[in-house]
Amino acid sequence: MSTELETLRLLSNAFGPSGYEDEVREIVKNYFSELVDEVKIDVLGNVIGVKKGDDNFPTVLLDAHMDEVGFMITHIDKSGFLRFNPLGGFDQRVLYAQKVTLKGDKGIVKGFIGAKAPHLLKPEERNKAPDIDSLFIDIGAASKDEVIEMGIKIGSVGTFDTTFTMLGKNRVMGKAFDDRVGLAVMISVLRRLKESNYNIVAIASVQEEVGLRGARTAAWQVNADFALALEGTAAADTPGTPEHKYSTELGKGPAITLADRSIISHPVVIKSLIHVAESKNIPYQFKRVFVGGTDAGVIHLTREGIPSAVLSIPSRYIHSPAAIIDINDFKRAIELVTGFIEYVSEKFKK
Ligand SMILES: [Zn+2]
Repeated sequence: MSTELETLRLLSNAFGPSGYEDEVREIVKNYFSELVDEVKIDVLGNVIGVKKGDDNFPTVLLDAHMDEVGFMITHIDKSGFLRFNPLGGFDQRVLYAQKVTLKGDKGIVKGFIGAKAPHLLKPEERNKAPDIDSLFIDIGAASKDEVIEMGIKIGSVGTFDTTFTMLGKNRVMGKAFDDRVGLAVMISVLRRLKESNYNIVAIASVQEEVGLRGARTAAWQVNADFALALEGTAAADTPGTPEHKYSTELGKGPAITLADRSIISHPVVIKSLIHVAESKNIPYQFKRVFVGGTDAGVIHLTREGIPSAVLSIPSRYIHSPAAIIDINDFKRAIELVTGFIEYVSEKFKK
């Protein structure tokens, strides 16, 4: 496995629902400490890596979020079943019958999301996915006391139990590619530009999935001239979806967001990305459905405004127990972001 894929594997397998990104933060911190001049952890838990270059180069901010969609335990019943609230937006259809990982005071606890048995369903319940209120987590405990003994309590958090796996010739499956693939791109770009004299600030943000929260305070601490949010974005290039609703497609290169619910990407950044892609023969595509929001939404509104855009790696089945991406899209995103930093640094030299 290449160093870049190995980075993605490590990050994807790490546990980090919104607000509880500790494990991911440790991994990011370790990588950053080898690649940048200064690593800070701010009050909210964002990791900010500063690579100091020549004064006359502009500062390019890269952002990727560390958190993944997960859930928090809100109730434990006398028979040992757990109720939960989501942290971030799930596709509710996919929760039932999933294996999950919880982190308790005594370490990892495995479990399974259950629902009322099929033969007890009312006719109107039979044809739809159970809503989150009717689901519960079974961790193998026979009583509330046993749950407590296992180290799980109200406020414990969890996420899907999925291990990074190679699929076919060029694809990988894993959890939390939104946005661990963005983090892996960011780390790989820092690795490539380690010996350069460019000014780069890399933000690994917290709590994106619950409303772009970490990036808001992190970006405020940086006086950036340009910003790129790196994301795993939805690819709907699958059976049953009309072509004009694909949003993005696997294997067609990284996706440039022109606009989504949180940002209209800045024309200078878009033009620079396209220029680099075309001059280096890097295939690229546009994200073609204006849905979702990203950290770029809050970053571009920081201070007097920062010219920003989003670059994404198309990911099928996002916000579900596993996503699938094409390794070539991942590699090309690394090339494109590296080229982008080189290009804007030289072109906008002060
Ligand atoms: Zn995301």
